[in-house]
Amino acid sequence: MSHDPYQIWISEIILQQTQVKQGLPYFEKFMKRFPTLSSLAEAHLDEVLKYWEGLGYYSRARNLHSTAQTLVRDYKGQFPKTAEALMKLKGIGPYTARAISSLAFGEQTAVVDGNVFRVLSRFFTDPFCIDLPAARKHYQQIADQFMGEEKAGDFNQSMMDLGAMICRPGQPDCDACPLRSACKAFKTQSQTKFPVRKPKTPKPERTALCYVIEHRGKFWMQQRDASGLWGGLFEFPWYEPSDTVPDFLSLPEWVELGKVIHVFTHFTLHLKVMYTCPPKNIFPPKTLTVSLEDIDNLSLPKAMHKVLQLVRNK
Ligand code: SF4
Repeated sequence: MSHDPYQIWISEIILQQTQVKQGLPYFEKFMKRFPTLSSLAEAHLDEVLKYWEGLGYYSRARNLHSTAQTLVRDYKGQFPKTAEALMKLKGIGPYTARAISSLAFGEQTAVVDGNVFRVLSRFFTDPFCIDLPAARKHYQQIADQFMGEEKAGDFNQSMMDLGAMICRPGQPDCDACPLRSACKAFKTQSQTKFPVRKPKTPKPERTALCYVIEHRGKFWMQQRDASGLWGGLFEFPWYEPSDTVPDFLSLPEWVELGKVIHVFTHFTLHLKVMYTCPPKNIFPPKTLTVSLEDIDNLSLPKAMHKVLQLVRNK
């Protein structure tokens, strides 16, 4: 178990949206390139985004970079030691703040995330729905009581490990669980009924046309705004039916290369990928055009890697 606040911070941010098994290689690569807070603060944001490529939710990488700079500039390169103070930093929510303060600095506070919700709701057969906004407060109180006088760092690490490896979603491995003799869900064989969740509503589907234009071996690319969806990343431009499409795209000779489906948290995007290779340069001035080899040096979201694959296979 690491007591280094920097390592705990990076690993917790990576694991926010990623399973341990998938996240570990990213963590190792990231730590190799940015082994210290100052190395991260000094790096260029584009490089940090490049190392984040494939993990999604890129605002996490932008926040990491910005907070590293804040800590070096305003905190003499030291992490604050309490969850309350850590939560004032960009991108550090209650869970990450408590993980850092308890594991690195021994603050007596329990951490609760989806894994801990699951363990507690099963252990107590607690019917409180974990999708409700009040769930965090509810389970935080239970976790703090459950922890009692135990050392917070050890308690939190055990709960996180238990949730990730034994009391897993779906069918838990109760035979390997140290809490089995007191667990209410095990006693009543109702493990799969907990945690209680809201019924899922189907995600909205959105469609868009993605335009790949090649002229003299160079492709039209654009960089997205720094904030919002895929903030700061590069893409082949795409437009939804409600968007205003630039005039120069009204060419007759488009070929469909294929379709790319990408699932976001709140919607599913269906991209129809269109390709053309006009003999004349049709791009307006200042358009970013990049050769196929150089596209590999840009930070692209996963969906654009799929588009790139279609372009390479054409
Ligand atoms: S006994 Fe089973 S359901 Fe209960 S906490 Fe352990 S793994 Fe989870």
